[in-house]
Amino acid sequence: MVVPFNQQHYTGKELQYIQDCMNSGRISGDGKYTTACQQFFEGKYHFKKTFLTTSCTDALEMAALLLQIEPGDEVIAPSYAFVSTVNPFVLRGAKIIFADSLPDHPNADINHIKSLISPRTKAVVVVHYAGVAVDMDPLLTLSEKHGFAVVEDAAQAIDAYYKGRALGGIGNFGAFSFHETKNIVSGEGGLLVVNDPDYIQRAEIIREKGTNRTAFFRGQADRYGWTDIGSSFLPSDMIAAFLYAQLESLESIQAKRMQIWSRYAKALSPLMDSGYFAGPQIPSFASNNAHVFYIVLPSLQHRTELMSFLKKEGISAVFHYLSLHKSPYFGPQYTGEQLPNSDRFSDCLLRLPLFFDMTTIQQDYVIGKLLDYYS
Ligand SMILES: *Cc1c(COP(=O)(O)O)cnc(C)c1O
Repeated sequence: MVVPFNQQHYTGKELQYIQDCMNSGRISGDGKYTTACQQFFEGKYHFKKTFLTTSCTDALEMAALLLQIEPGDEVIAPSYAFVSTVNPFVLRGAKIIFADSLPDHPNADINHIKSLISPRTKAVVVVHYAGVAVDMDPLLTLSEKHGFAVVEDAAQAIDAYYKGRALGGIGNFGAFSFHETKNIVSGEGGLLVVNDPDYIQRAEIIREKGTNRTAFFRGQADRYGWTDIGSSFLPSDMIAAFLYAQLESLESIQAKRMQIWSRYAKALSPLMDSGYFAGPQIPSFASNNAHVFYIVLPSLQHRTELMSFLKKEGISAVFHYLSLHKSPYFGPQYTGEQLPNSDRFSDCLLRLPLFFDMTTIQQDYVIGKLLDYYS
């Protein structure tokens, strides 16, 4: 049997909405489906203001522009993260200061972040890994004390919560991804959440090539022109039409993913109890959005052996990030301390297949092979 790591799920409404968008004669950005998607997020999660973007990477680039990051500024971010968590800040000339993960979770260790704060710290970017919340309250306390901005890389964190508050809506900015590997997809796509009202007007301008076009179309300006720096961060309304079909099915998608996630947790708990590997940790302040089901093996060698065993059996299980502070790009310029937890998750974390259309037969096959391997 072949079990892929991930597989696209289409809700069935995507083509209909794209066709409707085409029929409307308006396929560029900020059409009715873009508005519908943004209203969905603002309504359901009480986000102050949202902007669809072409990717989460672009949403983070907008955040870096809005924060007016300049050469000499320091931005603290986890090393166990995606390149797009930090690249937008590198593009603005910031120096990235890498923080370690927690010993028992890939999320950033807030105490370590605290030790890295300097008078030059302009922003802290955190990743809610696997859609599991970072402990935000202590980070917000530090941000108030030291005056830095907080950016949530919530790429994996749709429909996930911290103490009942939707992730992406807690820091100054939040950024979501609808890349085909996420829970809700539009092929490529993203969303910037602006929680601090002071940034809303400039966000509109930066997203529209540095023009006041959005205000113009609202009738708030008698002409539009070049008013600031900017780029083209808005997606076609056809992308938004696709996304809207997915958002309409959010509840059933989430319920199904949770069911698969929980089946793994239950079936693999004897192996975790026996100490063959650790399972995913969900702190009491966090919800679970079933973005990833991962296990943490005792060593790189254990992981490599298990991966190749599963591969031979037709199962695609994949590792995740490689410590950014040791990357070919950043490694040579890294002068900070060792980050042993980030390195451990780089070496030892393994993600199991999890997708909406995964059948019980496929999942039982994966579980059975894991039980065989350790018997
Ligand atoms: C997927 C992902 C991104 C990038 O999202 P894009 O929409 O592909 O730009 C950024 N950060 C994290 C943590 C991600 O998982």
